[in-house]
Amino acid sequence: MDLKEIGKRAENEIRTAQNQNDLKKIVQKYLGKTGEITQILHSLKNLSNDEKKQLGQDVNILKTELMNLISSKEIILAKKELEEIENKTDIDLTMPARQASVGHLHPITQVEDRIIEIFSNLGFEVAQGPEAETEWYNFDALNIPKDHPARDLWDTFWLKTEKKMLLRTHTSPVQVRYMEKHVPPIKIIAPGRIFRYEATDSSHEINFYQLEGLMIDRDITLSDLKGIIEKFFQAFFGGETEIRLRPSFFPFTEPSVEVDIKCLLCKGKGCSACSQRGWLEMGGAGMVHPEVLKSVGLNPKQWQGFAFGMGLDRLTMMKYKVDNIRLFYSGDLRFLEQF
Ligand SMILES: [Zn+2]
Repeated sequence: MDLKEIGKRAENEIRTAQNQNDLKKIVQKYLGKTGEITQILHSLKNLSNDEKKQLGQDVNILKTELMNLISSKEIILAKKELEEIENKTDIDLTMPARQASVGHLHPITQVEDRIIEIFSNLGFEVAQGPEAETEWYNFDALNIPKDHPARDLWDTFWLKTEKKMLLRTHTSPVQVRYMEKHVPPIKIIAPGRIFRYEATDSSHEINFYQLEGLMIDRDITLSDLKGIIEKFFQAFFGGETEIRLRPSFFPFTEPSVEVDIKCLLCKGKGCSACSQRGWLEMGGAGMVHPEVLKSVGLNPKQWQGFAFGMGLDRLTMMKYKVDNIRLFYSGDLRFLEQF
């Protein structure tokens, strides 16, 4: 059988194949175990060495040529099949793909990031502490001994652990932990989740986020606190924001103050958002109590400083004018997608 003649015939059949099935049959017919070209290789044993070599080469060249032809034909046929499917159905292959929906950071996280940025610019570092705390760090070290009435205000969840543990009621334990391990000067903020055992309503949740701030050095006064807090609120809410400090009481600061900002909505005239007061309560602050400094081994005669605490949820609610804290924890995408 003439190899050239077989080659031509195979080539012709490949070109005129109508579908993938035709191609499979052609491969079997010529290159399969009992295919015509394979048969030729079997007849080699009756030839001389030179003839064997020549024919072997010719067969290999032909096989390669045919395989290449088959591959190209396969692509052409696949395209044709796709076109046929497209014509038969109403699938529009030119239609843009459906976008996968991409999430984003939670509004409270976005606000936390912005706050960290502002305080970093003021030279503060970020410190973290555990959410499950010991009684010592959450209360005693902060000048709130066992029978102190302030403990009633901060009712929390106690854990059934061997060592008496609780879910922290504020981020202030981070102050203590940080001061134990670092030598002043200290300038930190500690954002984090805190817990309260209480009924929920539009402004109360059993867990929420707080921002703690602490600055300890040799000559820190209340005016440093005022300056830093004012700078922060102006960066956060805008350059016009006014603040005021009102005397207050906290066990871990002395003197203690409440920090108010002038209502952003009515500019101090009085509206429903500020209960006609013109001012909004944003958090507590004060000079770190000497007993707290002593509990971490610092000499209050040498070192002073201020601390403040603000609700991150509150700040987020004010910034975006959200009137119900529970929306942040509802997982409702209709709400979250607005940020
Ligand atoms: Zn107002």
